[in-house]
Amino acid sequence: MTSLADRLDAALPQTQCQACGYGGCRPYAEAISRGEAGIDQCPPGGDSGAARLAAIAGRPPRPLNPAFGSYRPPGVAFIDEALCIGCVKCIHACPVDAIVGAPKHLHTVIMSWCTGCELCLPPCPVDCIRIEAAQALPAPDDSRARHSARKTRLARDEAERASRLAGYEP
Ligand code: SF4
Ligand code: SF4
Ligand code: SF4
Repeated sequence: MTSLADRLDAALPQTQCQACGYGGCRPYAEAISRGEAGIDQCPPGGDSGAARLAAIAGRPPRPLNPAFGSYRPPGVAFIDEALCIGCVKCIHACPVDAIVGAPKHLHTVIMSWCTGCELCLPPCPVDCIRIEAAQALPAPDDSRARHSARKTRLARDEAERASRLAGYEP
């Protein structure tokens, strides 16, 4: 038996864009399940996504709330390689590990992984990333798995860092 949060999460686009005001799709699903968030806060899902969430949560249907942005159709990021300075900031921002590159080398987007979340745009110091229309988003299950793997890796890195600091005797 899946939980309400599981069923809500399964209906979300998994772009992990944070436009709903939460750190990703799963936290938003959990907030709806606790009655703390509306079903109308996901711009990539649009009106149809809000209707699906309403049906799952047993709430009255509502269109997308414009306070959270207008409908975001599928998009994909492109990096202008002539401008990229290899600062790595976009890699740190990407919630699904869809950018590859090394410090001081140009970076590239794995188009089939990119959810078009736009989180890499603000950190880029030379403004060389743009979002273009895409045919469709990556399969939501794949995006969820990539986001989950990233969170696990970051938590492990943080635990290792804390452990090293704890063992450090100045
Ligand atoms: S797709 Fe973006 S706005 Fe929609 S639930 Fe996921 S993180 Fe929130
Ligand atoms: S490459 Fe940019 S737009 Fe695409 S998923 Fe990563 S952060 Fe989002
Ligand atoms: S943030 Fe911009 S300049 Fe920095 S590596 Fe990414 S694309 Fe290149």
